[in-house]
Amino acid sequence: MSLSSMLVPGPGRAPPHIVGDPAVLSPEQREWVALAADLGRSRFAARAERHDREASFPLENFDDLRQSGLLGLCVPRSHGGLGADFTTYALVVAELGRHCAATALSYNMHLSACMGAGFIADLLDMSAAQRREHERHRTLHFHRVVAEGRLYAQPFSEGGAAAAGKAPWSTLARPVDGGYRISGRKIFASLSGAADYYGVLCTLDRPGASLRDTLYLAVPADAPGLSVYGDWDPLGMRGTVSRNLLLQDVFVPDDARLLPEGLYHQAAQRYPYMFSTLAPAYMGIAQAAYDFSVMYLRGELPGMTPVKRRMYPTKQAAVAEMRIKLEQTRALFLQSTREARIDPDDDARQRLYAAHYTVMENANAICTLALRTCGGQAMLKSLPLERLYRDSRCGSLMLPWTAELCLDRLGRDCLYAGEEGDEHID
Ligand SMILES: Cc1cc2nc3c(=O)[nH]c(=O)nc-3n(C[C@H](O)[C@H](O)[C@H](O)COP(=O)(O)OP(=O)(O)OC[C@H]3O[C@@H](n4cnc5c(N)ncnc54)[C@H](O)[C@@H]3O)c2cc1C
Repeated sequence: MSLSSMLVPGPGRAPPHIVGDPAVLSPEQREWVALAADLGRSRFAARAERHDREASFPLENFDDLRQSGLLGLCVPRSHGGLGADFTTYALVVAELGRHCAATALSYNMHLSACMGAGFIADLLDMSAAQRREHERHRTLHFHRVVAEGRLYAQPFSEGGAAAAGKAPWSTLARPVDGGYRISGRKIFASLSGAADYYGVLCTLDRPGASLRDTLYLAVPADAPGLSVYGDWDPLGMRGTVSRNLLLQDVFVPDDARLLPEGLYHQAAQRYPYMFSTLAPAYMGIAQAAYDFSVMYLRGELPGMTPVKRRMYPTKQAAVAEMRIKLEQTRALFLQSTREARIDPDDDARQRLYAAHYTVMENANAICTLALRTCGGQAMLKSLPLERLYRDSRCGSLMLPWTAELCLDRLGRDCLYAGEEGDEHID
């Protein structure tokens, strides 16, 4: 049996908390993070190795999330959900990321649809008619999540400039009587084949359409014209099963809108935290790699010969370095999640880029240090570190805020205000 499920500290050592000091949490945050920890430790971790090996989707984990009520974590209370805010969402996903990062990342995709139609929509400017319409539509979507346990995915990426936020989506939604007909392709659709609805971003098909014409539409998995295609055999995050989607003249009714027409663009401009929703799963990986190293060096990994390696100064120095990186990462992660708000000022926005970049890069850096420090046996596939290392590599590749694009945006924003520019100098 794999030892993946056994990241439980030895006698006398309480499991470290994902926020460091749980006393800072509200009672509800503590309860939901504890629930995620319990599910993660007792169930998801044990299944992670198989789903990684098979590159199969962890359906049983989503059954557990469904039964525990956590599918409705970010559905507003007025719609029967748990009404979690951004920080709470991030902490729950980070905790799950410690035990099965692919589950955490996929769960994040589902929750992002709930946040978009939920508390993010509440923060946006809408006319009274749009607000009424949105209320009607989201009642339907949230009922599916809370009462029917349905799963939403968010396939945005197309392999072009759109996912970087630099061009309109090539997937087009043609307005027709009672709804839209959607045509296009999406790549990297996590939960492909497992989701009940795909929250697709597309462009309203009209002359001169721009980013402002982005539509966010929930396409039922069984809609005629929708198909999943392509292989899925990647380096890491294999359990997300992020295959491709083909949409061929797929009809969806008006109530498929997860946001009213024109509102996605407003959300993207005014609530940039929605692009940082990929980070919590990787925060969990960073913590897990550190936890693993401490147990390994103490000779406490169950099933292994209890050889201690902690007495060597080189190991102690490496663990100290890992701990410093972990605390730097956690500090920025927590600060930026707690700052989540509509219309952040320039300073908060820049901090958010810095936080996102730090989580994605440091998760991999901590895994790298962990492997080097723990040594050869630690890279065996029977132990979770090897998987954590591969999974951690994926974070910086994820659009729209890849590590490269975070540097791009941050560098520009630090040096230029608003629309400022320079004349070209050769
Ligand atoms: C495990 C995993 C799960 C995923 N799940 C989802 C999902 O559920 N939904 C979803 O929508 N996507 C998902 N993605 C896709 C992801 O967000 C990216 O879209 C994808 O990794 C981009 O791959 P690409 O090679 O096509 O990128 P490319 O578009 O080829 O970009 C390559 C790199 O070039 C840089 N770049 C790209 N465009 C620009 C530009 N205009 N200016 C400057 N630099 C640029 C970026 O740094 C980027 O990393 C997932 C990815 C992974 C790894």
